[in-house]
Amino acid sequence: MFKLGIHRRIIISFLILITVAISILGIYLLHFFYAQNLETKTTHLLTNAKIIETTLESALYNPAKQNDVDEEIKKISNLTGLRITILDLTGNVIADSWENANDLSNHADRTEVQSAFYRDYATAIRYSTTTKQNMLYVAVPVYHNKQRMGIVRTASALTPIETSYQSTRTFLITALLITILLTILIGTWLAHLYTKPIKQMTAIAQRIAGGDLAMRIHIHTNDELEVLAHAINKLTSTLEDKIIEIDAEAKKLALILENMDNAVILLDAYGNVTTANHSAKKIFHLTADLMGKHSISVIGNSTLTETAQEVLASRQSKSISLKLKIGNIQKMFHVFFAPITNQEKNTTGVLSVFHDISVLQEIYDRQVEFVTNASHELKTPLTSIKGFSETLLDGALESPELSKKFVGIIHNESERMSRLIEDLLQLAKLDTTEYRSQIKIETIDMQEICNAVERKLTLQLKQKELTFLIDLPDEPLLVQANDDWIMQLMINLVENAIKYTAERGQIALKCWIKSENIFISINDSGIGISPQDLPFIFERFYRTDKARSRSEGGSGIGLSLVRFIVEMFGGKITAESRPNIGTTFTFYLPIAKSTKGL
Ligand code: ADP
Repeated sequence: MFKLGIHRRIIISFLILITVAISILGIYLLHFFYAQNLETKTTHLLTNAKIIETTLESALYNPAKQNDVDEEIKKISNLTGLRITILDLTGNVIADSWENANDLSNHADRTEVQSAFYRDYATAIRYSTTTKQNMLYVAVPVYHNKQRMGIVRTASALTPIETSYQSTRTFLITALLITILLTILIGTWLAHLYTKPIKQMTAIAQRIAGGDLAMRIHIHTNDELEVLAHAINKLTSTLEDKIIEIDAEAKKLALILENMDNAVILLDAYGNVTTANHSAKKIFHLTADLMGKHSISVIGNSTLTETAQEVLASRQSKSISLKLKIGNIQKMFHVFFAPITNQEKNTTGVLSVFHDISVLQEIYDRQVEFVTNASHELKTPLTSIKGFSETLLDGALESPELSKKFVGIIHNESERMSRLIEDLLQLAKLDTTEYRSQIKIETIDMQEICNAVERKLTLQLKQKELTFLIDLPDEPLLVQANDDWIMQLMINLVENAIKYTAERGQIALKCWIKSENIFISINDSGIGISPQDLPFIFERFYRTDKARSRSEGGSGIGLSLVRFIVEMFGGKITAESRPNIGTTFTFYLPIAKSTKGL
């Protein structure tokens, strides 16, 4: 993973350190010993040269004794092992302990000799072709009566010093190699010792980074590493707490988002759908393959896309009302748009929340329609009353015949208005939740209701010479409902049957029990309802034949009231009809389970 692990780095650092230290020390010692030896040797040669100079001074300047000099120096040379050479001021060799002086050339060019002409002494190291080895030469001037008379030169082979230098060097190199080997061994052990906790920490830190936030580092090195381990542990627990917190928050938000009734859709900066909640998926039929697609192809509305772009550009939230056709259903939404910004305050997308106001809109539309219809229904008889009363005032009152006729019409119209207002009031009453909650619910017997209806409408039935058949089972037909409203429902249905059945027709009332419900049907042999009108007869103010219905005194509210009452007590009503054959209204109510109120 790394070019050089910490383990190797420690070993290499040790090696470099030790090698450099030992090398510098070795080189220094080597040179120190060499220089020391050389100095000792030089001092030795100098001392000897001075002794020889003193010893031979008189002989040297006495030509008669010059031969003795040669013998003398040979003796001294034998005793000391030194080479001794005596030179005159021109550099000619007067005597030499190792060679015959006459065979030797002039030595004035030798470095030590040249220097000794004007210094107290001079030294030189040179390879001797005579002895085939390096030699150390020390030359001192010879004085006689304070006058330089010649030079005494002592020389010794450097071989012992060089040998000692080489053996010391070999020793130091060996020591260096052994130290390197030991350094590698000790370094490896130390590196292992030092890197073991680091490796442990690294392994655990990697697991933490991988998401295992329950991991903790347990090392006891009693140093900075232990402090670092504590810091990492603290960091991890803080991170874990934060993640748990964020996670809980995210789950809460996701739960809210998913369970919201409103559809929520997130669009990116390009208008593509990135996220949609459960309601959005359900309402707009969003499938997985539509995610990531542009909103125009997903929702299919340009206003939505344009508003989203506007919000993106302006960074201001906005609300619009939007009509959308989903499948075959027209829906009305109140859509709220808000820009989504990132930490750098750049707008990265748009949040759109769809509030379905279709029901509210429908209620509003219905209210408007209801007021229009009610006004219209009231206006018609009022116009008629106004017209006839004006005619009467204009002179028709004079004619008793016309007066009777017109007052009769005015009476009928006002009766109709009163019925209409009565129906409207009843409907308005039932429409309020408060009134519905106050309705007294009790166990009632439909047998009694059916008989009471027959009794109440006997006169009307007789007037049209209608046959009224009642088919009731022997057992009681108990339902949980309100007496008055059930009576109202039954009368509305039977009255309609009377109204829309020709004289001498037949009306049949039947009750039966089927699967926990009591069924009641009212069948007539009347004019019937056309299939086109049948689906709408329960709508408020709906009348199949307005003129006829009006002449029968109908307001178009009766059946809507009937359906309202049936559904209020937990039932359902249906109608079947064939024009000129007859109509059957069938409804059911659940059988009463107890005598307690609902
Ligand atoms: P209305 O007061 O005008 O009778 P309803 O709401 O009771 O109003 O009835 C709505 C319409 O349904 C009536 O105008 C009528 O055309 C039709 N209708 C209701 N009952 C019958 C029936 N038994 N036979 C034929 N048509 C009916």
